[in-house]
Amino acid sequence: MGSPLNILIAASEVHPFAKTGGLADVCGALPKALHHLGHNVLVILPLYRCVNISQYDLRPLPQTISIPVGPKKIEGILYEGELIPGVPVIFVAQEKYFDREHLYGPPGKAYPDNAERFIFFTRAIIEACKVTQFKPDIINCNDWQTGLTPVYLKTLYAYDSFFRKTRTIFSLHNLGYQGEFDRNNMPLANLPFSLFNPAGVESFGDFNFLKSGLVYSDILTTVSKTYSQEILQPEHAFRMDGILNSRKTDLFGITNGIDYSEWDPQRDPWIKEKFSAAKPQGKTACKRALLDHFNLKSQRDQPLMCMVTRMTTQKGIDLVMAAVEQFLLKDAQLVILGSGDARFEEFFRTRKSKQLGVFIGFDEPLAHRILAGSDFILMPSVYEPCGLTQMQAMKYGTVPITSAVGGLEDTVVQYNYKTGEGLGFKFSPYSLEFFSKRVTDALTVYRDAGQWQTLVQNCLTADFGWDRSAQEYERVYRLTLAR
Ligand code: ADP
Repeated sequence: MGSPLNILIAASEVHPFAKTGGLADVCGALPKALHHLGHNVLVILPLYRCVNISQYDLRPLPQTISIPVGPKKIEGILYEGELIPGVPVIFVAQEKYFDREHLYGPPGKAYPDNAERFIFFTRAIIEACKVTQFKPDIINCNDWQTGLTPVYLKTLYAYDSFFRKTRTIFSLHNLGYQGEFDRNNMPLANLPFSLFNPAGVESFGDFNFLKSGLVYSDILTTVSKTYSQEILQPEHAFRMDGILNSRKTDLFGITNGIDYSEWDPQRDPWIKEKFSAAKPQGKTACKRALLDHFNLKSQRDQPLMCMVTRMTTQKGIDLVMAAVEQFLLKDAQLVILGSGDARFEEFFRTRKSKQLGVFIGFDEPLAHRILAGSDFILMPSVYEPCGLTQMQAMKYGTVPITSAVGGLEDTVVQYNYKTGEGLGFKFSPYSLEFFSKRVTDALTVYRDAGQWQTLVQNCLTADFGWDRSAQEYERVYRLTLAR
C-alpha cells in the first residue's frame, strides 16, 4: 500500500445522478472502490436537468467559474454533493448547456451544439480543481465527452504549477462513440489551430474529441482485456487503430466490476422477493411477478429470456429480431426493456404478445425486476467493450447467452455440462445459425433440473465485484505517476 492518491474521476454521466448506460455505472462505482482503498477521490460531471438538487442535497460553491468558449466567456456555477460519505462530487452547472431534457440529445440523435457543451465541460473540469483546491495526482477522463481535458493540460495549462504533478488517464468505454465534430468548432475550444492535424485532434477532417483524449493522455485504459486487443485490429477500431497501435504499450485492459450495493438480490428493494445462492427460492416469485407484469401467458416451466439494452446495432438487435421471427418464441418467452433506434423500437412494439413482453424506455426498477425474474439474458452483441448487464444478470442467477466478443468473452465462461463448470453460453462466429445452436444448448440444460441448478448456482456465486478492478486501476495510476 503506497500513499493515498488524489484522484479526479471526470465523466459525463455518473450513477445515480445521470445515466444512459454502463459508463454511469462505472463512474459511480469506481470512485467508491478507490475510496475504500484509501484514496482521496473527487468526481465531476455536468448538472443536467435530471439531477435532483434537493434529493441529493447539492449546495452551490461561493466561487463561480468563467470558461472561454470561442470569443465569449461563459459563466458556470459549481455545486457540491457526495456519492457516499467521503466521496465528494462536483456538478458543473450552466443552464444553457445542461438544463435540457436529455444528456446528449433525444434518442438516436445528438444536440447540434454538443461540441460547444463539452468544450465548456472539459475546461470546467480543470478550473473546478483550482476552485476547490483539489490538486489531482490523476485525472481519469472517460470517453469522448472528457477527451479535451488532457489536451488543455498539455497545452494551455502546460506551465500551470497547480497541475505540475498531474497525470491523465483516458478510459475508453466504447470506441463507437467518438464525438466527431466539424472543424468549424475548433475555434470554440480556443486551442492553437496547429493542433488540428492527424497527429493531434484531427481525424479524417473532423475535430475528434475521443482521438484528442487518445493522443494527449499519459495512459489509456479500456474496459476489458479482450477489447483492449480487439481495438488494435482495423475491423474493431472505428478508424482509431493507427493511434491505438502507436500507443499499445500505454494501453491497459481492466475489466469492469459491478456495484453490489446496487445489484444484489439479497437486498434489492425493487424485486418481489429477495433471494441468494443459499436461498434461491425467491427467484420463482420474481419470475411469476414478471410474467404477470408483462401479461405473459404462464405456461408451466417455459424458460423466460430477457434483454435490458440500448436498442442499437451494436447490441445485436438485428439478430434477436431474426430469431424472434424464426425460432426463439417457440420454446421460450422473452421480455425486452430498452430504447434507441426507431426501427428496433417499432419492431418490438408491434410484436407484443403472450410470448413477448416489451417496454420501450429507460426504467431502472424494471431493469432490476427483469434481471431477477428471468432465466436467461440475451446479449448477442456485435461488439461489447465490457458489458455490465451480463454480470448484473448472473448476480441474480440469470444465465447469459452471448456472443464471444470483448468483455463478454472475458466474463462469461462457457458452461460445460460434463464438469458442471461455467456460467453461460457463448457463440462464435457471429451468425444466426450459431446463435440458434447455443440457444438450443441452453434450453437443453434448462430442461435438465440437476444441470440447471448447478449452472444457476455457478452464476449466483460468481464474483464480479469492483475490488479487484479498482486495485488494477490503482496499479495503473501508480505506474503512470512513476513514469
Ligand atoms: P452499454 O453501456 O453499452 O449500454 P452495459 O451493459 O455496459 O451497456 O451497461 C448498460 C447499463 O444500463 C446497465 O446498468 C443496464 O442495466 C442499464 N440499462 C440498459 N438499458 C436500460 C433500460 N432500458 N432501462 C434501465 N436500465 C438500462
